[in-house]
Amino acid sequence: MTPLAEILAKQIKTTGPITLAEYMSVCLLHPKYGYYTTQDPLGLDGDFTTAPEISQMFGELIGLCLAQCWMDQGSPDQFALVELGPGRGTLIADVMRATQHVPGFHIAADLHLVEASSRMRDLQAKALPEHRPTWHDSAETLPHDRPVFVIANEFFDALPIRQFQRDPKGWREVMVGVSEDGGLQRGLSDPAPIDALKARLEDTEPGALVETCAHGTAVVDALARRIAEQGGMALIVDYGGWHSDGDTFQAVRGHRPVDPFAEPGRADLTAHVDFEALARSALLAGCAVSQFTKQGVFLERLGITARAQSLAKGLGNEALEAHITAHRRLTHPDEMGSLFKVLGLYPGTESPPPGLDP
Ligand code: SAH
Repeated sequence: MTPLAEILAKQIKTTGPITLAEYMSVCLLHPKYGYYTTQDPLGLDGDFTTAPEISQMFGELIGLCLAQCWMDQGSPDQFALVELGPGRGTLIADVMRATQHVPGFHIAADLHLVEASSRMRDLQAKALPEHRPTWHDSAETLPHDRPVFVIANEFFDALPIRQFQRDPKGWREVMVGVSEDGGLQRGLSDPAPIDALKARLEDTEPGALVETCAHGTAVVDALARRIAEQGGMALIVDYGGWHSDGDTFQAVRGHRPVDPFAEPGRADLTAHVDFEALARSALLAGCAVSQFTKQGVFLERLGITARAQSLAKGLGNEALEAHITAHRRLTHPDEMGSLFKVLGLYPGTESPPPGLDP
């Protein structure tokens, strides 16, 4: 048993089963034994990899997209450049490098990073030696007095979800309990009506499973209010669909799927992002929302192929091979190109960010 499994089993025996959301939060962010608190999960030697770790092209194109939106909104002379969940800081470092020659952009920008793990904050500080970011525990404390230009790549999939299984008498919530042998196990609560899931009664049958992510919609609400009132925009890039449909809770360790309840704190836990729920939250907060767009399409529209060709010129055999593979991984429909989607949030008075349709 991992130390975290012992802590959770003891808690559950004392106060009863916990929701999947509580389980996920503790596993990922427990101050001593949480997954993001104890290790650097990214890259080839880690448990999973992300688009900016695969190629510098991803962060460069995101940077140019952010800078173009900033210019389209009249180049405001003070704005917050924000990343949610910056991991190793690779993406934001690529954004800064790609935008260094955009006149006035760096002078107007102050950098804000929303990051829960102090270990990840140290890595981010190292990746940004020339910049002085302000770190935040949550999006709630982002500035209220200037436009916010935001990027979030693979952030929302790490936020805690709850799962509900439809039952003839209402919804049963997936809970984490303790089995007879003392290990952690999945269980179901008694059925109850859930007001927030009323609309899902129309498109689900008994037995169907839906996921909700209150943390995700709250983060979008905080961003969208600022974008609507102060200007700016947000790019949300992640794997997921338009609608939560079925069980997408997963654990990954060493680039392989593992049992999410077997070694709490040692595996990455994620769920697919329900983009419809995020879009609804943004619209309610008064923000416009772009078309839901595949990552491959978005990157092609931003010019990834031209950038790939220009970078390829300086590369020898092996590096060229790796570069071609990276381009394919980011864009091809069989790789990240279709599974990953992009949603843009922007003020209703503006056009959507480059690469996205209204
Ligand atoms: N965006 C990066 C890393 C994605 S990994 C990339 O593309 O490479 C997820 C990141 O979100 C990590 O930095 C993790 O520590 C952070 N994170 C996870 N849950 C969080 C939460 N609830 N609040 C703030 N940061 C969180």
